[in-house]
Amino acid sequence: MILAEEREQVVWACRRMRGAGLVVGTAGNVSVRAGDLVAISPSGLDYDDLTPELVGVHRLDGAPVEAPLRPSTELPLHLEVYRRVQARPGSGDPHPGESGVSAVVHTHAPASTALSLVVDEIPATHYYLALFGGSVRVAPYARFGTAELAAGVAAALTGRRAALMANHGAVCVGDSVRSALDLAAYLEYVCDVQLRAMSTGLPVRTLPPGEIESVMAAMAHYRQTPPGASPGVAE
Ligand code: 13P
Ligand code: ZN
Repeated sequence: MILAEEREQVVWACRRMRGAGLVVGTAGNVSVRAGDLVAISPSGLDYDDLTPELVGVHRLDGAPVEAPLRPSTELPLHLEVYRRVQARPGSGDPHPGESGVSAVVHTHAPASTALSLVVDEIPATHYYLALFGGSVRVAPYARFGTAELAAGVAAALTGRRAALMANHGAVCVGDSVRSALDLAAYLEYVCDVQLRAMSTGLPVRTLPPGEIESVMAAMAHYRQTPPGASPGVAE
């Protein structure tokens, strides 16, 4: 089976995403890129029924390589994100990790989706916005699975690791599926906090100018791993 590890990662992330309440039913999708190939969750399949063999493998142009089921309807969105990153000067194509994007996680998490209904951007209120590279943009609404949605989301992700999708959900990207999934949970937290702050009706305080950049530098070495830990996703 080609891309066996990446396909397992997709299954792992889909289950975690649902377990964390970031999606209901068959909502959302996950992909992992390895070079010119992308492993992506199939469309409309119950995550309980998902196995690595059922995760499709496609080329960056969308051509199926090994795909027993219809791929996620958001395949164009995932591919557009990877293609844009690849096209960026200096993105390390032979080493996807170096490009900074080798996984995409799309959720319908409730606070993220609710906030997408009422703002055009998550302002720099909580310092966690630094995790995403700054204030998070809301891509304009377009119907699910369309090239229009793909283009809007890819543009909203410029220089960011997350975007909200108006009247739909959220997308996070990472250099591993684990980091993309982590970011999706952080994004949901930040959106929940923002909604609670807005619901007071009081003015919502933003961070001082330049603070997000300072926090990004301060957080660069925040995370630790146990001595000798492997970077795998299994727990
Ligand atoms: P798929 O089941 O086709 O991945 O669609 C779910 C979804 O979230 C569409 O935006
Ligand atoms: Zn969706």
